[in-house]
Amino acid sequence: MMKFLSHTSPELFKNKRVLVRLDLNVPLDEQGLIQPTDTDRIDTARKTLDYLRDAGAQVIIISHIGRDPKQSLAPVTEMMNIPLFPLSVDKKKISEPVIMLENIRSDTREEARDNMFAQELASDCDYFVNDAFAVSHRPHTSIVEIPKLLPSFVGFQLEQEITYLDKIFSAPHPAIAIVGGAKFETKLPVIKQLLPIMDRIIIGGALANNFYKEQGYEIGRSLIDPDALLGDLVHHEKIIIADTVIVESEQGTIEKKIQHVTYDEKIVDIAPSGLNEFATMLTGASLVVWNGPMGNYENGFVAGTQKIIELIAEGESLSIIGGGDSVALIKQLGMQNKFSFLSTGGGAMLEYIAHKTLPGIQALDNN
Ligand code: ADP
Ligand code: MG
Repeated sequence: MMKFLSHTSPELFKNKRVLVRLDLNVPLDEQGLIQPTDTDRIDTARKTLDYLRDAGAQVIIISHIGRDPKQSLAPVTEMMNIPLFPLSVDKKKISEPVIMLENIRSDTREEARDNMFAQELASDCDYFVNDAFAVSHRPHTSIVEIPKLLPSFVGFQLEQEITYLDKIFSAPHPAIAIVGGAKFETKLPVIKQLLPIMDRIIIGGALANNFYKEQGYEIGRSLIDPDALLGDLVHHEKIIIADTVIVESEQGTIEKKIQHVTYDEKIVDIAPSGLNEFATMLTGASLVVWNGPMGNYENGFVAGTQKIIELIAEGESLSIIGGGDSVALIKQLGMQNKFSFLSTGGGAMLEYIAHKTLPGIQALDNN
C-alpha cells in the first residue's frame, strides 16, 4: 500500500534521517550555471523538503544530473545553499539538516539495479521518500531497490502527478487528447491506451506525417518513423489530423492543404488555420491531455503548438500537459498558469498513461 507524505504525521520524522530521491536534473548553460528560468525541478521539490525539515528530520537528497556521469550537482547545491557530500559519506557524521549526495549516476550501479548499492545508500537512514516522478519509469537502484529496504513514502509532487494523471482514466467528457512530437515508439502505446477513454485524439508533429503517408498523401522529405506500425489506427474514427500544414519548399515556408504537398517539400508544422476546425472541440472539452509539440519548434516552427496552447487556454477544461518539449514551450510563452497541471515528466508521463503505473510507483506500493 502506498503511503503518502501528505497523509503522514510529521511526528514520525522527528529526529529521523530521511533519504529523498529527487529529480534535480536541471539544464546547465555553457558556463555550467543554472538559468533563473530553469529552476522548476528545484522549485517543485521544495514542498517535500520543507515538510521534512519542518518535521525535524535530517534530509539526505539523492539525484542525478546531466548525461555525463561525471557532472557534479554542485551548481544545484550552490543554488539551494546546502552542502554536497560524496555518495560514500558516513551519514552518521553529517550534522546539517539538509544535504545532498553527489550525482547518483556517477556510480554505475545506479542504472544496474543493484541491491548492494541500495544497501549502501540506505545505511543509517530511517525512511525513504520518492519525489522524482520524471525518473520513476526507470528501474534504477534508487527508484526500485531502496523501497525494498526502508519504509517508503510518496512525496508531494509525485502525489500530484498520480492524482492528476489518474483523472485521465476516468475522464469527464468530452475528453480530447493531443499527441504530437516525434518519438513514435513511446507515443503509440499511449495512443492505444487513450483511444477507448477519449472522445477524440488529435495527432500532430512528426507523428502526423506517418498518418498522412499511410493515408496515401505525398509527404515529400518530411520526417517520419519508418518502423511505426499504425495498423487500423490509420482510419480510426476517433483519430483526427489537420488537413493544412506548414511546409518548407523552394518558395520558402508556406501553408498548404495536405493534398498539395509535393515530393521536394518538408512538413514542419501543423498550420494554425488547419487547427481552427478543432477549435470548438477544444474550447468545449471537459478534459484535455496533451503531450508533444505540433511542429519542429526548435527551428522556429511554433505556430501550430502556439495555436493549441491558445485553444486550451481559452477553454475551461481540466488540462493536463506533459512532455519536456511541450512544457518548455509553454513556459517560454509564459502560459503556464493557463493549465490545470503541467507534469514534470515526459517519458514518465507517457509510460504512466500506457501502463497506469510505473516501476518506481509499484516499488512504493509493494513497500
Ligand atoms: P515531448 O518531449 O514533448 O514528449 P518529443 O520528444 O516526442 O516530444 O518530440 C519533440 C520533437 O519533435 C521536437 O524535437 C520537434 O522538433 C519534433 N517535431 C515535431 N514535429 C516535427 C516535424 N513536423 N518535423 C520534424 N520534427 C518535428
Ligand atoms: Mg522530448
